[in-house]
Amino acid sequence: MQKIISLTKRRGFVFPSSEIYGGFASCYDFGPLGVEMKNNIKNAWWSEMTKKQENIVGLDAAILMSPRVWQASGHLTAGFADELVECKKCHKRFKKDEIGRGSASNKCPECGGSLTKPKKFNLMMKTFVGSVEDKAATTYLRAETCQGIYVNFTNVLNSMRLKLPFGIAQIGKAFRNEITPGNFIYRTREFEQMEMQWFCTPKEANKFFEYWKKARVKWYLDLGIDKKKLRAIEVPAKERAHYARRQVDIEYKFPFGWQEIEGVHNRGNYDLSNHSKHSGQDLKYEGYFPYIVETSAGADRSFLTFLVDAYREVKGGRTETTEAVKEVEVLLKLDKKIAPVKVAILPLVKNKPALVKKAKEVYKLLKPYFYCQYDEVGSIGRRYRRIDEIGCPFAVTIDFDTLKKNDVTLRDRDTMKQKRIKIKELVEALKEKLSV
Ligand code: ATP
Repeated sequence: MQKIISLTKRRGFVFPSSEIYGGFASCYDFGPLGVEMKNNIKNAWWSEMTKKQENIVGLDAAILMSPRVWQASGHLTAGFADELVECKKCHKRFKKDEIGRGSASNKCPECGGSLTKPKKFNLMMKTFVGSVEDKAATTYLRAETCQGIYVNFTNVLNSMRLKLPFGIAQIGKAFRNEITPGNFIYRTREFEQMEMQWFCTPKEANKFFEYWKKARVKWYLDLGIDKKKLRAIEVPAKERAHYARRQVDIEYKFPFGWQEIEGVHNRGNYDLSNHSKHSGQDLKYEGYFPYIVETSAGADRSFLTFLVDAYREVKGGRTETTEAVKEVEVLLKLDKKIAPVKVAILPLVKNKPALVKKAKEVYKLLKPYFYCQYDEVGSIGRRYRRIDEIGCPFAVTIDFDTLKKNDVTLRDRDTMKQKRIKIKELVEALKEKLSV
């Protein structure tokens, strides 16, 4: 993890938030390559849900909602609280269920001091709306995006003239005052969710649950995630979220162990019936409350999953230069859809103005179509290594033959094959290879 974390910082993927002030509370900023990669992940998810599936429409609800929403959803009561224990000696706080069971469970994992009795700790982040900081003005930053979908159920249904079954997809920020954030961007207090709520008849809920479980596992595999490191675990009743009738956690094997990256839940009619009761609005469809099957993924956790899964260390020689032979080369084998930079443009040498001029022309030609990086600094071997390290799938090299024949070398990251190709055919060829 340390190697990956330092790579992400060095190459502009992820920076600690407010770093010049010493960082802040496990918050992170996505840098120039990070934002591209995260957008690619979100676009892949959005396109999977709204373009490839039938009957799914999108939504972008506000982060701030009426506090009554959180009353109705159960988030302000016990349902959304973790059990917190504190060390009486070093005063560090821990999530009770992370400390485990048995005799060691009342000892501080850091200093061995004794722990306080568990206290309920609500994860909602409070804020105030308007100019008075009193109880009446209190609201919360949303802890999950899906509540925005439930409260808009009839708006979407009626405006789009939908019939059951149908889905509503949304991507957006969520906030949780996690007791123990950590493992880099795995658990943070501000994060992004990619959630889809599928409304169906109670009778069909199990069938759709199975469908969505398979579809969601397939999404990760299709984007190159190692099958051996991905599993879907059925969660037993006593460990499920407060609203779930059935729950499958999709987990990935990180260097810090198997961890959830997405949940698929059968939420029954919990949400629509509770919002009906609390709002006084009838949220039934043809006389009954539809069931909801939810797929709830994290954009940041997906980001970490793709990154960790793609990370390779190759012992020397990949870039075929003598200086490389003894070095360990880092390769990010990111899927082409996820990779932030799609094409690197490299003049063979820097000190030949004609080559540099031509390479800049090629850069200008490709830039409107693909996220490109122009690089003329250092030997060609070093530059190949730099682009392998950020997972760039294609490199275009401009050499002396280019000046005579108007063709370039196209290098494929994975096969390392190099092919001559006419400049005028480059855009179409890359579009085909990158499937855009
Ligand atoms: P965990 O058990 O890890 O706290 P959860 O079961 O509470 O997660 P859900 O409420 O089901 O998570 O949220 C759905 C998804 O949202 C998770 O699978 C994860 O991808 C993402 N997510 C939840 N909490 C966080 C967080 N603190 N940081 C980053 N992503 C998160």
